[in-house]
Amino acid sequence: MNTLDSAAALPESVDLAVIGGGPSGSTMAMLVARAGYRVLVLEKDTHPRFHIGESLLPHNMPIFRRLGLLDRVKALGVAKPGVDFTPASEPELVSEIRFSQALEVPVDCDQACQVLRSDFDALLFAAAGEAGAMLAPGCRVRSVEFDTADTALLELERADGRHSLQARFVVDASGRDCFLGRRFDLQARNRQHGTAALYAHFRDVPRRSGDAAGNISIYWFDQGWIWMIPLPDGVMSVGAVCNPAYLRGRGRDVTRFFHATLARNPHAARRIGDARLVSSVTATGNYAYCNHRLDGPGWLMIGDAGLFIDPVFSSGVYFGMHGAEVGARVVLAELAGDAPAARRARRRYRARVRRGVRELSWFIYRFPTPAMRKLLLSDQQVLGLKQAVISLLAGDLYDNPRVRWRLRLFRLVYWLTCLPELAANLKVRRQGRRNASVVFDHGH
Ligand SMILES: Cc1cc2nc3c(=O)[nH]c(=O)nc-3n(C[C@H](O)[C@H](O)[C@H](O)COP(=O)(O)OP(=O)(O)OC[C@H]3O[C@@H](n4cnc5c(N)ncnc54)[C@H](O)[C@@H]3O)c2cc1C
Repeated sequence: MNTLDSAAALPESVDLAVIGGGPSGSTMAMLVARAGYRVLVLEKDTHPRFHIGESLLPHNMPIFRRLGLLDRVKALGVAKPGVDFTPASEPELVSEIRFSQALEVPVDCDQACQVLRSDFDALLFAAAGEAGAMLAPGCRVRSVEFDTADTALLELERADGRHSLQARFVVDASGRDCFLGRRFDLQARNRQHGTAALYAHFRDVPRRSGDAAGNISIYWFDQGWIWMIPLPDGVMSVGAVCNPAYLRGRGRDVTRFFHATLARNPHAARRIGDARLVSSVTATGNYAYCNHRLDGPGWLMIGDAGLFIDPVFSSGVYFGMHGAEVGARVVLAELAGDAPAARRARRRYRARVRRGVRELSWFIYRFPTPAMRKLLLSDQQVLGLKQAVISLLAGDLYDNPRVRWRLRLFRLVYWLTCLPELAANLKVRRQGRRNASVVFDHGH
């Protein structure tokens, strides 16, 4: 494999420079390197390294198959057959959604997988190398200039000093660092929605019984919701996504605050019991943003580098890898010098990224409302609406007209469900918009 650590010379020029070796960047690198181009992935960290975002979606599984990685990813993770929901107010009520009950279940999409991102990201990064991409771990991109029409000049920093690199095309896959978004001043905060999160790893948290053992569990509480994600080796990822204003009150002892937050849902607190905290507690906030543009001459943004809404439906890795697949067509057409194909591919890329996010955002913004809670907990099966929502939660967001019309109808049902408690539902939505303007400090 072509790993260029700080003792190895970096190339002076490549066809494609990928900024960031997370899931989006590694996927892009694999696809373009397999087409025979010279690809260099620049990753400021060295794998394996911690990253949040551990629960994957069923529709990510066919992507792994296309990449030839399905068995390796499955071997790495915990199978995730569904999601269960437990509100604070109900006596031990657990409502479960199984991905196998979606409106349509394509091959490999009856379940997903949950992974330690350190291992998962390392696997994808290595797979990019196996596909022929050059890998530069511990190499940070400091600047990019698009001076001439067909070449970008990148300044890189490694342990052995500064380097220059010429690239015919640049893909920004730098995650929430949003390298090009900041460079071009394209970033905009989402004004509809804002949340903050606390998360950590535990051991000895009991799993659900039987074949539900790999379920992601969601617990609502008055200030947000809690996730429990079963991971390999008996680890449970636990996080609380809350109103940013609530999280600002966390004080110096963030671990204590985290436990107090988990206690806001008695069922979650009981399940955590005396489980051992085996990592530090991290606080992060205000992560909903988008860029005014996702592409330009000589560059493309993919994954979180382009936009991010919210972790609630575990869509981040899927959006990033799907975006890399669709975006790779832009890169391949550009590198082949096929301008009409590149224009078409760019239009398709923009439309697809925006469509997926738009579809999911509607649900994300309304997830904390009492009406949405009621609908998600309901067992009623009318016109396949519930199955369509399961399809959405599985990642069936783009091409399925049977899902799409049902999701439109679901919106109407949502509004009708809101009516009896309209004030309470609108209050929660207003709170969501107010959250978007809270300034979050990462002080602790
Ligand atoms: C609280 C929270 C919970 C989440 N939970 C989930 C979940 O359960 N499921 C899910 O699918 N998603 C989840 N996400 C989202 C998920 O973390 C991201 O969507 C996903 O990691 C995006 O992948 P990426 O490859 O685009 O970016 P990243 O995974 O962030 O990778 C970007 C890479 O770029 C590198 N980099 C950055 N700048 C530079 C530079 N200048 N030079 C070189 N390298 C650079 C970074 O080191 C990093 O390795 C969650 C997010 C948050 C905030």
